[in-house]
Amino acid sequence: MGLPHFRPMRAVLTLALLALTSCASTEFDRAPMTCETGFGTVRGFTAEDVEEVGRLVRDLAPRVHEILRPKHAEPVRVVVLDTPADPSAKAFTHEFVRKGHLVDRFIVVGSAGRHLRAFLVAHECVHWLADGPWDRLPLALEEGLADLIACQLDPVGREAKLYDLAHVPSAASFDEIEAALRVTRESWAGLTAAERERAYWVGYVVARRLGVEGLRELAEQAALDGVRLIPSERVVDRVGLGRNVQTWNESINSSPR
Ligand SMILES: [Zn+2]
Repeated sequence: MGLPHFRPMRAVLTLALLALTSCASTEFDRAPMTCETGFGTVRGFTAEDVEEVGRLVRDLAPRVHEILRPKHAEPVRVVVLDTPADPSAKAFTHEFVRKGHLVDRFIVVGSAGRHLRAFLVAHECVHWLADGPWDRLPLALEEGLADLIACQLDPVGREAKLYDLAHVPSAASFDEIEAALRVTRESWAGLTAAERERAYWVGYVVARRLGVEGLRELAEQAALDGVRLIPSERVVDRVGLGRNVQTWNESINSSPR
C-alpha cells in the first residue's frame, strides 16, 4: 500500500530539491575563487580581486564591528563581479526576499573603481552589520551612517565622497529634506536620480552632525518606543538646523568635515 504513494512523493521531493538548488545558485555561489577572511567569505572570478577584497574585509570588518557593536554579526558574504547587476552602483548589497522573509543576501563589489574599494567595502560592511536597534534608521540615515564610517576608515574615499556631496545641487525647499528622511527600502525603487542623491546628501549631513553615538541614541529610543523607523521630526529636532533650507544647504560645506 505504501509503495505507490512513496514513488510520486520521492519525485516531488526531488523536484523540490532541484528547485531549491536552482534558486540558491547566485552570482555569489557561481564565482569560482574563494577567500576565507575570518569575518566571512569573499568570492570572485580572479585571484587578484579575491585576495585584494579579502584583505580589505579582514582589515575593515572588525573595525566596523567595533564601532557599531551589532547584535548578531553574521559573517559577511562578498562577491567581486566584472559587471554589477546595477552598472551605476560600484557596490551594493543584494537581498533576496521571499514572502516577506530575507532568504539570502550578499555584497557585490564591482571590479571597476579599484581606488575606491576600501571605502565601498567599509560602507557595505556597515549595511551588513547594522542590526539590532540600527534597524530603526530610515534608509537615508543608514546611508549616512555607512558613509560617515567609511569616511573615518578610508581617507582616499573620503575625499571623493566629500567632492561628490559638495556637487549635489542645493535643496530648493525644506520639503525635499523631509522627504529624504522618509525614504524607505520600499520607496527607493520609485525615486528619481536627484531624489536618491538628495537622500545620500541629507543622510550624510545628519550623520556628520549627530555622529555614530547620536544616531545610536535615536535608534535605541525608537526601539524602546516601539516605533518601526525614527520619525523625521525627531531627526530634525535633534539635528538643530531648524526647518530652514538655507541652513541645511550651508551645513554640507561647513567644517568640521
Ligand atoms: Zn549604501
